[in-house]
Amino acid sequence: MKHVLSYDRILSEIYQEIQPFSKVGQQATYIPALAEIDPDQFGMCLHTVEGEIYTCRQADTRFSIQSISKVFSLAVCLSLFGNRVWERVGVEPSGSSFNSMVLLEAEKGIPRNPLINSGAIVLADMLLAHSEDAEQKFLDFLRCLSGSDAVCYRADVAEGERRTGYMNAAIANMLKYYGNLEGDIEQVLRFYCRMCSIEMNCRELAQAFLAFTNSRPFDYGGIRLTVSQVKRINAIMQTCGFYDEAGEFSFLVGLPGKSGVGGGIAAVCPQRYSVAVWSPRLNAKGNSVMGMKALELLTTKTEESIF
Ligand code: GLN
Repeated sequence: MKHVLSYDRILSEIYQEIQPFSKVGQQATYIPALAEIDPDQFGMCLHTVEGEIYTCRQADTRFSIQSISKVFSLAVCLSLFGNRVWERVGVEPSGSSFNSMVLLEAEKGIPRNPLINSGAIVLADMLLAHSEDAEQKFLDFLRCLSGSDAVCYRADVAEGERRTGYMNAAIANMLKYYGNLEGDIEQVLRFYCRMCSIEMNCRELAQAFLAFTNSRPFDYGGIRLTVSQVKRINAIMQTCGFYDEAGEFSFLVGLPGKSGVGGGIAAVCPQRYSVAVWSPRLNAKGNSVMGMKALELLTTKTEESIF
């Protein structure tokens, strides 16, 4: 009962305290489907491993999860391919923006990690090579993980991403040149953009990330991971989940997490809770301003982080 009262109070305090940041930053504008979103929205959901759920404001409004999907594709790839994943992507932070190509050329087509675009494009290639209905299987996995059949791809977002995704196309071409992309470039890019286009709300995301708290066996629709594999996914989120702001997020928040340019952030406190927060206004690095602030306040007020 103690936690019931304090998390509720903490979430409403957080909402009050982040108000000075309510007009800071701008939502992603590179495709109309994201540019048209009302930027003044905020949602948050915290899910404890005991099953208690706490929400704040627009926790039931769906948004584009964008790069948060990279955590899910990593989970599926690790389940299907095990350590063979690490022959094609690394585990080092990139220290550069999510779509940077600089290191990819220097390192001959091996992406630094699975949570930047180049790494996730390789994962998309692996999933497509493994199954003819990779798209449907990925969606089935997410629906199982989040406990919601309403989770779906957004066609206009995916098409917009593909039409304007010049850097992603350049990355895929470079991967092909270095022999780290098996499939057809166009098909891989389309699948990658579909994964970015997935819509979920904070409640569904928090439920999905509960699987990464390592508080229960990871087995969702046949996608199974060991405790050790989940631990490694958390390690990669901690060091690579926020691109060139991973250090800042670790410093301010102290939880493994992943952001997306739709304004969402999902994070876990291992063995304690998962949390999802969403607010469309982004900082210069592409991470949600209010989302980062809310999580910083959460771990400060609860005194619960991995450190
Ligand atoms: N769809 C975006 C891209 O590939 C995802 C980037 C992100 O969320 N950081 O550029």
